[in-house]
Order: sequence, then structure tokens, then C-alpha cells
Amino acid sequence: MNTPKIEVAALKKQFGDHVVLRDINLKIDPGAVVALIGPSGSGKSTLLRCLNLLVVPNGGRIRIGSDAFDFDGAKAMPKPKAQAKFRSNTGMVFQHFNLFPHMTVLQNVMEGPVSAKNMHKGEAEAIARRLLAKVGLADKADAFPNRLSGGQKQRVAIARALAMEPEVMLFDEATSALDPELVSEVLSVMRDLAAEGMTMIIVTHEIAFAREVADRVVFMRDGVIVEEGPAREVIDNPRQEATRSFLSHFH
Ligand code: ADP
Ligand code: MG
Repeated sequence: MNTPKIEVAALKKQFGDHVVLRDINLKIDPGAVVALIGPSGSGKSTLLRCLNLLVVPNGGRIRIGSDAFDFDGAKAMPKPKAQAKFRSNTGMVFQHFNLFPHMTVLQNVMEGPVSAKNMHKGEAEAIARRLLAKVGLADKADAFPNRLSGGQKQRVAIARALAMEPEVMLFDEATSALDPELVSEVLSVMRDLAAEGMTMIIVTHEIAFAREVADRVVFMRDGVIVEEGPAREVIDNPRQEATRSFLSHFH
């Protein structure tokens, strides 16, 4: 038995009176790919954001690799240094790419290692060029983001996240804002990462992709995990009525 790479226990988050995550319990094995699906507003983005402390939970516990935080009790808020270390365990890719517009593609990918890890520029550049080649954009190193298609921008965003050498990649609807013809080039990079053994949580509405690439599917609704299991079982034979109803919209 592997020790899970990610362990979430009794996680809670509310914004004012609005409870968004009720009691989330989740274990993810090293190298596993988990597709997180569910209706809009069910708390998927909030869960991913808790995992890298963009949102601070109101209770529960998160462990990623060897870093754990307990959000119950008086010392709930981690110190800035511990927060930064915890955050560096995960690389996050958003629906909107958030590339730095005044930097070239190469500079965008080098920025994290140079400014957050004090890496020498030469070393950061070598890593950035290798990652740009990996996402199929070696020839765009000197371009500015506004010269790229949405699919290319998103691939740069993936390279930028990978440059920090995270243990886990989190994708929040990474293809939802793309023109349909650009979706597959981004999914293809994600598929390669999965095949290399990267641990990933993918929030997606690409159900066919989830079925093909994910090991497990987690279905959330109203801040609760309603159903979870092997991807094909959940997608082909959902046990819960809520899951069945949600999936019926994709046929
Ligand atoms: P999903 O990603 O599944 O669509 P979200 O996690 O974005 O769901 O949102 C879940 C609920 O939390 C929604 O009702 C949303 O309005 C609310 N919410 C998310 N972020 C905030 C915030 N920063 N402040 C207040 N409410 C929020
Ligand atoms: Mg969302």
C-alpha cells in the first residue's frame, strides 16, 4: 500500500454564512489522476484553492507529501514561510492563463524559479527551454503572450507551473475558455503528464477525457463528495441519482 500523496480530512470552508465545503475527505495516491466533476457552484474550485492555500479553510486537515496543516484551533493560520513552502507543493493552472503580458514566453516560465527559488538565470533558462519543448512550444520562447493562441498560452501556463517542480498539478477548467479546436492540444499535454506519473487533480467538463485519462472520478455537489470511484465505473455506471443526473447532460 502506498502512502497517499494527498490527504484531505474533514475539510470545511465557508464564506460568511455560506458553507461551501462541508466535510471533504479525500485520499489521492502518488501518480494518480483524479477528475473532479460536478455542477457549477459545488465547490470544486474552492477545494483546489484550499489545496494551495489561495483559500484558507475553516477546519480540517490537508497533507500534501510531507507537509501538513491542521486548520482547526487557535493556530489555524500557518506562518507565511510555511505557507509558501506548502504552496510550492502544487502547481495550479487556471481557466484564464494569467501570463505576464510584458514578459516573453521564456521569461514567463523562468520567473518563478528565479524570483521565488533564487535560481541562477542560466539554470532557470535551461529548465524553461526544456519545458517549452515538452509542451511543444520551443519555437515560441521569444514571443510575447499576445502573439499566442489560447491553446498555446495555456501550454505556457502549464510549463510555468511545472518549472516550480511541484509534486502535484491542479487544473481548474484549464480548457473551458478555449475555442473548441484548441482544446485537444492542451488535453494532450495533460495526458502526457499523467502518463509520466504526475499526481494530478483535474476539474473538467471534458467527461470523455476524464474517462480516458483519470484513474478516479470524484463527483461533488453542494460542498459534499457525493460519489467517488474508478473513472469508468463512475462515468459508465454512476451509483447515485445526483451523479447520473449530472452526467446525463453530457450525452
Ligand atoms: P465550482 O468551482 O464548483 O463552480 P466554487 O468553488 O467556485 O464552485 O464556488 C462554490 C460556492 O462558493 C459558490 O456558491 C460561490 O459563489 C462561492 N464562493 C466561491 N468563492 C467565494 C468567495 N471568495 N467569496 C464568497 N463566495 C465564494
Ligand atoms: Mg470552478
